[in-house]
Amino acid sequence: MPISPEQAQEIADARSQQNTTMRATVPGMEQHLYTAHEVLDHGFIRVIDYMGDDSAICQAARVSYGKGTKSVQNDEGLIRYLMRHWHSTPFEMCEIKLHVKLPVFVARQWIRHRTANVNEYSARYSILDREFYIPAPEHINAQSVVNNQGRGQILEGEEAARVLEILKADSTRAYDNYEAMISDEGQDGLARELARMNLPANIYTQWYWKVDLHNLFHFLRLRADSHAQYEIRVYADAICKVVADWVPAAYAAFKDYRLGGAQLSGKGVDCLRRMLKGEDVTQETSGMSKGEWREFMGVVGG
Ligand SMILES: Cc1cc2nc3c(=O)[nH]c(=O)nc-3n(C[C@H](O)[C@H](O)[C@H](O)COP(=O)(O)OP(=O)(O)OC[C@H]3O[C@@H](n4cnc5c(N)ncnc54)[C@H](O)[C@@H]3O)c2cc1C
Repeated sequence: MPISPEQAQEIADARSQQNTTMRATVPGMEQHLYTAHEVLDHGFIRVIDYMGDDSAICQAARVSYGKGTKSVQNDEGLIRYLMRHWHSTPFEMCEIKLHVKLPVFVARQWIRHRTANVNEYSARYSILDREFYIPAPEHINAQSVVNNQGRGQILEGEEAARVLEILKADSTRAYDNYEAMISDEGQDGLARELARMNLPANIYTQWYWKVDLHNLFHFLRLRADSHAQYEIRVYADAICKVVADWVPAAYAAFKDYRLGGAQLSGKGVDCLRRMLKGEDVTQETSGMSKGEWREFMGVVGG
């Protein structure tokens, strides 16, 4: 269960409080505030706070005295221009603070994004909950035969059942031993900071994660991508939905130029020009490696 009834009540209480402010607020984001959006079997993301909106990006770009808005079309055009030309600093004027609950092996990938501020739940101070990520059957796959860093077809039948059985049994055994070691009944009880070391990487942790919009887009470009592992991608997908409601114009530009767009090398541009002139360009005449050619053809649709 991602959140307990007590935690749900805490969220409802926080949401019932109203504050007045002269700061810019975004109706879509006010709807998201504090609400837990479930991810995986026990995880969630929830917005704790945010600063700025689409207008703040334009305000910073123009270093304006007022809201920075000339007209919605004008702002959208400016935001698209900034995104197209990699002008990053105006996007850094918007910030978001999320509360994230995620398996430790996902957290290990996530924490590699260094341009954020993080405060993690302390397993030295507190006792971890008995909550482990157990994949749904449709997410138990074989090792990919074409991509060493990926998964292939879904495992089925006895093999899938055996994998699930192992994951559940190991998680249960490790947590039972964790509890037995920290217990102070009839013994001193091992320190929590030591007892946690035998817990598997599918146990859940939590953190507060604060990041500016520029670096969040960088995170989302890498982690909402099909090459990212499914278990972190679903978090990125959930964040994308929130960002679309927070800064609709910036998100639309990001979706178009970064998620939907493609980057070509000098050789790629040259080949494309030759192709447009009607030349029959092949990998051999392209000057590209086989891998580069495959990716290039993936972009131009050959
Ligand atoms: C599909 C995929 C597979 C991956 N596989 C592996 C793997 O096998 N092994 C592995 O170790 N990692 C792997 N990674 C992690 C990856 O190499 C990056 O560490 C991670 O994506 C964070 O990217 P980043 O450093 O650009 O982000 P951030 O840390 O958020 O940094 C954002 C940008 O800020 C700048 N920056 C930040 N810190 C510095 C600094 N100290 N010096 C200079 N510039 C800085 C850089 O321009 C950087 O791109 C993988 C990532 C993905 C998405």
